[in-house]
Amino acid sequence: MWLLGYYRVLWISLNCKRMMSGSRIISSATEVASWDIPSLPAQAFQSLLGDFVNPSLWLQPLGELMKLEAVELRHIEMELVEPFETSGWRETLRPCIIVAIRSKGLTGYGECVAGAGPWYSYETIQTAWHVLEDFIVPEILGQEIASTEELQRRSGRVRGHPMAKAGLEAALWDLLAQARNVSLANLLGGTKERIESGISIGIQQDISELLRVIEQRAAQGYKRIKLKIKPGWDREVLKAVRKRFPQMQLMADANAAYRFSEREHLKQLDEFGLLMLEQPLDYDDLIDHAALQKELKTPICLDESIKTPEDARKALDLGACKISNIKPGQVGGLLNAKKIHDLCWERGVPVWCGGMLETGIGRAANVALASLPGFTLPNDISASARYWREDMIEPPFVLEADATIRVPTGPGLGVHVVLERLERVIQRRAEFVS
Ligand SMILES: [Mg+2]
Repeated sequence: MWLLGYYRVLWISLNCKRMMSGSRIISSATEVASWDIPSLPAQAFQSLLGDFVNPSLWLQPLGELMKLEAVELRHIEMELVEPFETSGWRETLRPCIIVAIRSKGLTGYGECVAGAGPWYSYETIQTAWHVLEDFIVPEILGQEIASTEELQRRSGRVRGHPMAKAGLEAALWDLLAQARNVSLANLLGGTKERIESGISIGIQQDISELLRVIEQRAAQGYKRIKLKIKPGWDREVLKAVRKRFPQMQLMADANAAYRFSEREHLKQLDEFGLLMLEQPLDYDDLIDHAALQKELKTPICLDESIKTPEDARKALDLGACKISNIKPGQVGGLLNAKKIHDLCWERGVPVWCGGMLETGIGRAANVALASLPGFTLPNDISASARYWREDMIEPPFVLEADATIRVPTGPGLGVHVVLERLERVIQRRAEFVS
């Protein structure tokens, strides 16, 4: 009986904590995932606790150890509906690594967002594959793991390579959520049923083509438009867009295309009432962004410069940004993304979830993340059809009439991964079995 009493106190305190505090729900879920508690039969809990609070939460086997029986890597290559161009590169084909982890008859899926070349970051498909195959997978294969914190500790010996780590970690999040029969959004501590969707529009041939594309996207329901800019494709472009769409929520992303010496030019962008200016300066910089923010009226949002929760803390301490873009793939996974969210939430800094041209698998994880309460700005999470003729998942993500996307409620990612579609675009495969 003492053991049952222990469980009862533990579960009551846990669920009260979940119910009572909005933002603290997030850390509760994190703590839950890390507790090493052997599960008791569901029937025993049901008779012990009745319907108190939420039966589905009570019956979750929290902290259950998951033996990682097999890990499968699939390098796939998907054709984009249309090319996507930024200040530094142009993509027509989007490669990625789909990571699958199997345990207890379940399969968790995650997406590694490293690109074909080291343009956005130093990681590529090849480096991510190498780091996963030769270092991280051997470290965790056959191990019994109860939490994403534990995975982070085990993979922590590998310096950097956040995209490789994030792909594997996302698969574990999906697996843990399925094992607990809750949605990933629920496990992360999400509070929203729908998330706000924005769209990112790449650099076009000319301004008239850009205006046509914006018109088309606005007609589809997107209310916040992000434009990629670069030197020579900035002030005149924004002037024309603002003239045509005076009320539109508009922002610009430079992907680190400017130098601090060009700040007088950047200050001219203040006149367009942008929601924010994203990553104007170097991809590793915090210091110059802090100096620039002092001179700009437009809020700076950092993207490439934030690769860890510590980067985020330093950026906020320095005043290098007023808004943060959080990409789980870039910051080493959903756990770090949550930490950055929590930090920004505490400091009153709004955040939104960025995109890396994810398939439905990565998109589903991003949607779950964006259901956290601090994601108060529209996210770069658009409908599946914006990028893909046929997504990897069913049902695909669609844009609702109010420019939102529904957060899946089924276990794990809450979407079905269509394996036949993965197989059609596969370039390379490796399976590791314990
Ligand atoms: Mg960006």
